[in-house]
Amino acid sequence: MSDHGIGKVAVIGAGTMGRGIAQVSALAGHETGLYDVDRRQLARALARIEATLDKGVQLGKVAAASRDEALQRLSGTTGLNEVVDGADLVIEAVPEVMELKRGVFREVAEAVSGEVILASNTSSLSVTRIGAGLPSPGRFLGLHFFNPVHIMALVEVVRGDDTEAAVVNRGLAFVKGLGKEPIIVADSPGFASSRLGIVLGLEAMRMVEAGVASPADIDKAMVLGYRHPMGPLRLTDLVGLDVRLGIARYLHETLDSEAFRPPVILERMVAEGRLGKKTGKGFYDWDTER
Ligand code: NAD
Repeated sequence: MSDHGIGKVAVIGAGTMGRGIAQVSALAGHETGLYDVDRRQLARALARIEATLDKGVQLGKVAAASRDEALQRLSGTTGLNEVVDGADLVIEAVPEVMELKRGVFREVAEAVSGEVILASNTSSLSVTRIGAGLPSPGRFLGLHFFNPVHIMALVEVVRGDDTEAAVVNRGLAFVKGLGKEPIIVADSPGFASSRLGIVLGLEAMRMVEAGVASPADIDKAMVLGYRHPMGPLRLTDLVGLDVRLGIARYLHETLDSEAFRPPVILERMVAEGRLGKKTGKGFYDWDTER
């Protein structure tokens, strides 16, 4: 245990994000419990973690002994009381539904002492609202990991209106202990990452609409001119146009700024089922790229 005082970590929800968070937590030396209501989903997650660690060993990124130790520190359960027992930090990664998350935390709060830090991996909901009504809202914060968790370095540490400064500091130290790079963000729609990333993507779409340049050339402008690893339209195709439209609508509504108004081209492409890579067509033709 280091200065954050966090030993055992409990992860609630064994989907894409929960299994990634559990993996990096166990690898960083934390005893880690992974919990899901769905037994099959839990089994799949544990198998995926093992496979990902095996691949890390094959690629020379993870030592075989570290993999073995991480797997020993990791356990899965469908019992909520079991997973939070002895935990110093509980990280929730259930679907992005406010009432679902609030319900999970109500149950968790009943099962833990007031000393435990509670965190949500929400990518868009208000951390303050999720934590409101808990017995210790000061010990609640957002820890926003990125997908895939074992590869992406960034974690947004989201300070809710009630989050205590000491809890933010412990969150930062925990994230650094995972070998990740934290940033501190106030609880506001889109935090830092989505808010900025979406504006760039929407403006690129408006430029396509206005015939300023082709999608490939707009992307090239950012890749070669601004050293972005990938252009905003290609990234939109990978994330999914429907996903980006949902975020744009949400930010347009909550931030009340025209910068987030969904461009007509985005609405139209989503209505036509051109959702990006997953449907084969978006701003690029993925059928021919595959
Ligand atoms: P997912 O659908 O892959 O996984 C959610 C898991 O939660 C499922 O395994 C489901 O069985 C489980 N679950 C549902 N209800 C539960 C309950 N009451 N108790 C315990 N488990 C329950 O979702 P995901 O993509 O991992 O997203 C989880 C959270 O992370 C969301 O808030 C999402 O916004 C956020 N997030 C997602 C990404 C991403 O790229 N997928 C990135 C950053 C943040």
